[in-house]
Amino acid sequence: MTDQTGLSTRCVHAGELDDAHGSPHTPLYTATTFKFASTADLLDVVDGRKPGSLYTRYGLNPTIFALEAKLAALEGAEAAWAFCSGMAAESALFFAHGRKGIVCIGDAYGGTLELLSTQLPELDIPTYFLLGSELHGLKAFLEAGAGLVFFETPTNPTLEVLDIRKISDIAHEYGALVAVDNTFASPVNQNPLALGADFVIHSATKYLGGHSDLTAGALLGSKHLLAAVWNWRKNLGTTISPEIASLLMRSIRTLTVRVERQNATAQIVAQALVRHPKVARVYYPGLPDFPGHAVTKAQMNGFGGMLTLQLKGNYQDAVQATDKLKLFAIAPSLGGVESLATMPVTTTHHGLSAEERARRGINDSMIRLSVGLEDPADLIADLEQALA
Ligand code: PLP
Repeated sequence: MTDQTGLSTRCVHAGELDDAHGSPHTPLYTATTFKFASTADLLDVVDGRKPGSLYTRYGLNPTIFALEAKLAALEGAEAAWAFCSGMAAESALFFAHGRKGIVCIGDAYGGTLELLSTQLPELDIPTYFLLGSELHGLKAFLEAGAGLVFFETPTNPTLEVLDIRKISDIAHEYGALVAVDNTFASPVNQNPLALGADFVIHSATKYLGGHSDLTAGALLGSKHLLAAVWNWRKNLGTTISPEIASLLMRSIRTLTVRVERQNATAQIVAQALVRHPKVARVYYPGLPDFPGHAVTKAQMNGFGGMLTLQLKGNYQDAVQATDKLKLFAIAPSLGGVESLATMPVTTTHHGLSAEERARRGINDSMIRLSVGLEDPADLIADLEQALA
């Protein structure tokens, strides 16, 4: 199987191991360790002279290898490491490549912001923050020595689209590396490595897993750059388990079908909400008048399954509407087959001060929707009864 095949074909076939018993899918190897015919054979793997399975926490396990080959094929990456969560993938990257300083552009997942603003500075790792509208300030941080630029696009929760090529060009001028959290877009809608980024991060808990039943993460990039991350994953012990790797491979086989449907439904829901008298604003990159729609069209293949609405009322009105939803579950995640709703002020951005939320354009009456695979008409009916 080469990378020239279409994405759906890669989702189904890439990385899958040939099984002696004829299973069409990679077997689940739960073994924690693997045996060798001789000490010389063992040393070949330990010393990296030959590829092979050795110890599962190291990631040297056939099921994990298969998953990583599939992940790499989805993003057009030379290599991929799979982790036990998205945060584990981010932390390992930051420890391995961010110690000179990390610039975070735009809004990001609350856990990422907490790690960057609190834990990493406690370890004397400098971190800097810029809004998406403050790109002119990036050069100063790079001149100050920051070596890694990190951002999500589209961002959480305002769906701001940042220009991957433009930011990568600026960072590379200063010898800095660029990491894009591609969780919201998924590899179906966007491939940051093809746009100049050096790393892609996924919370595989979201679209890649797709069923809200597994927690996992992935870091992708060149073999050379990922090599520096190897010991961090190994010694922090944050490798994915083979059981979750197998489940994640199961999910990825249907990734394109799910995400394409979620893109289409989100567009329909966004268009319905734009016309709703109680809605002040809809944040969805697929709306023609959405700021950044032009960059979005240039760098994305689809507009995604995430949208955020801002009500005309206040915090209490948004709580009331959220609590009335029947089909959308109130839950702080995204990317699953079931539709979810959260107010960013109560979940992902709860930890930020009111001033900081305001600076980031996060309003108390915002409700973020993750559109699942239900019928669009049922989702719209649910939103209409909740807003009534
Ligand atoms: N990145 C984004 C965009 C997220 O939304 C999340 C979690 O919600 C993460 C990273 C962290 O992923 P995980 O919960 O798998 O650690």
